Amino acid sequence: MSIKIALAGNPNTGKTTLFNALTGTSQYVGNWPGVTVEKKGGTLKGHRDVEIMDLPGVYSLSPYTLEEVVARNYLVTERPDAILNIIDGTNLERNLYLTTQLMELGIPVVAAVNMMDVVRKNGDKLDTKKLSDTLGCPVTEISAIKGEGVMEAAEKAVEAAGKAAVPPPHRFNGTVEHALAHIEELVLHNLPETQQRWYAVKLFERDEKVIQQLALAPDKIAHIEGDIKACEDELDDDAESIITAERYNWIGSIIGKCCRRRSQGKLTVSDKIDQIVTNRILALPIFVIVMGLVYAISMGGWAISIGTAATDWANDVLFGEWVPGLFDTILGAAGIAEESWLYGLIQDGIVAGVGAVLGFVPQMLVLFLLLCILEDVGYMARIAFIMDRIFRRFGLSGKSFIPMLVATGCGVPGIMASRTIEQDRDRKMTIMTTGFMPCGAKMPIVGLFAGALFGGSWLVATSAYFIGIAAVIISGVMLKKFKMFAGEPAPFVMELPAYHVPNPSNVLRGTWERGWSFIKRAGTVILLSSIVLWFLQGYGFVDGVFGAVEDNNDSILAAIGNAAAWIFYPLGWKGDMAWKATVASVTGLIAKENVVDTFGVLYHYAGDIDLIEDSTPLWSMVAADFSAITAYSFMIFNLLCAPCFAAMGAIKREMNNTKWTLGAIGYMCGFAYAAAMVVYQIGGLITGEAAFSVFTVIAFALLLGLIYLVFRPYRESTASRLNERSVARA
Ligand code: GDP
Ligand code: MG
Repeated sequence: MSIKIALAGNPNTGKTTLFNALTGTSQYVGNWPGVTVEKKGGTLKGHRDVEIMDLPGVYSLSPYTLEEVVARNYLVTERPDAILNIIDGTNLERNLYLTTQLMELGIPVVAAVNMMDVVRKNGDKLDTKKLSDTLGCPVTEISAIKGEGVMEAAEKAVEAAGKAAVPPPHRFNGTVEHALAHIEELVLHNLPETQQRWYAVKLFERDEKVIQQLALAPDKIAHIEGDIKACEDELDDDAESIITAERYNWIGSIIGKCCRRRSQGKLTVSDKIDQIVTNRILALPIFVIVMGLVYAISMGGWAISIGTAATDWANDVLFGEWVPGLFDTILGAAGIAEESWLYGLIQDGIVAGVGAVLGFVPQMLVLFLLLCILEDVGYMARIAFIMDRIFRRFGLSGKSFIPMLVATGCGVPGIMASRTIEQDRDRKMTIMTTGFMPCGAKMPIVGLFAGALFGGSWLVATSAYFIGIAAVIISGVMLKKFKMFAGEPAPFVMELPAYHVPNPSNVLRGTWERGWSFIKRAGTVILLSSIVLWFLQGYGFVDGVFGAVEDNNDSILAAIGNAAAWIFYPLGWKGDMAWKATVASVTGLIAKENVVDTFGVLYHYAGDIDLIEDSTPLWSMVAADFSAITAYSFMIFNLLCAPCFAAMGAIKREMNNTKWTLGAIGYMCGFAYAAAMVVYQIGGLITGEAAFSVFTVIAFALLLGLIYLVFRPYRESTASRLNERSVARA
């Protein structure tokens, strides 16, 4: 039989880092709460019979958010053999609050005080021996990131599990203990003795979920209620507050005995940086500059830009000459003629399509590397904090921003990160809007158009990022004013971890994981799409006869695309590009990289054209078909419309409701369509590209409607005004 050890602790205390160190796996380590939203299991290195469980971080066992429910249910119902409680040594007070609750579960607990490297650097002193004696459970010092003491901590937990050494729970005030004893006697005597305590405390706190779980008879509930009331009257406070206050009193006394802080009152380097970075006035401009720099370095056309230089090389030389040349040689050696269909499929289909996507890998890697560094250093956590301040003014919670940050890598974990949000309505709203963020797979679209039409300007990629954020904020403000979503935002408590030098293995692992999934998709989904697209665009009816076509404007795919292209006519997708853009947008639903893949396949076939200087053939052909405004209308539609199938699946899982899922996808498509139409019709009117038509009127109406929805008063005030009116009438 295997031994199960659960890693439990507050968010951001290093549980996942420890889990990776103990199991030798590489789970995603994040710098904000909500990264581990599901529990994950692994085997302890060198102990095949010991299973380690990484749980989502929780502040207490009174669950409010979904991730807290996951953690609590696991601990209470599955009952691991021991709990390894990870405590952030730089924040003992808040962390011990959970510890006091874990110790009531009747499960052996070992406390591992993490971040000891920081504690020592701050010059703080911790007496672990005394802490262990006062708490009544083994305590060890570790630094998960440096791997110090981690195996010892795990072995202590295994030992505690073996001895089944249940810690003595903390004793509350006499009156409370009296009530708890009554509760245990009345309704809990059937449970094993070690488990009674936790249930008794929860019943005392009137925990709904526990009352339900135990299915107590009404007369018993009434009886318990009497005991609780008596206690509340005597102590003149409500039951939950009594318990909380007692816990904090006890923690205060423990800290007084076991901990000596040197840095008290003095500002650390981290605090000093935060005075500037989270400053009320400077925070936002700094954020814009930092993100601008990130996109400029990775995607921009700067001379110093490593990303672009590498991408130019990848597009021009590697996938422009070397790979096609290599296949030329191979196919030639195999005796396959240039005129054969197989040659066409490989060179014009696969190499052109997959190559167009893979050409962006260097830029992606640089982008992911920079984002991972910002995250690991601790800057992204500050962004969530800063955005909370701004969001709050609009009735939104900063918690909605964390999924957005995660979604800049990939929308799927971004949508899953919405589980940290307590209120169902805010959570739904976040799921509906997180897909607006430009994930890694959308960046090649931006890169393609920036290269083809905007001289590779870094402003294009930066604008894509801020268009995504703006779409989320505008949607949030707009939706909050509907009754369905109205209400105060949830409070957002978040530990700001001290800044630290990025850990190379964390950063490289994060970069590689995101980059690899990008490459993997190119080798699977994108490859398959290229093949299918190549066939569809290479065959069709000419003069009523089915066969290979010279010009892919005569192909079946063109016929299908043209049949649907009218939908996008108001967005300015006209002429030869209309069916290509339509097909690309549809294949983009499978995976967003497919948009560029599709252009790679479709434009490769179009024959000779005049190359623009310093540009790949694909870029020149795109530049010939699109204008700056149609490029933006196309980009905006594809950045904001329904996300890829994987992300839609995530929306479906998180919403757990078909109507809401369809609603979310419909909302995104509608928003994208409206935004792209406004850009083309109004932008085109200004540049003279689009003539005044009925669509111009619709575009203005949409814009005014949007402005109205954003600026109209909040629901509460409309409701009260309605009441006044009905009162006046009555
Ligand atoms: P979780 O939310 O509890 O799973 O925490 P993570 O494992 O995701 O870590 C949160 C942050 O703390 C990451 O930025 C880690 O690099 C950092 N961290 C983890 N352990 C240590 C440690 O021992 N020392 C320091 N300085 N940082 C750590
Ligand atoms: Mg974690």
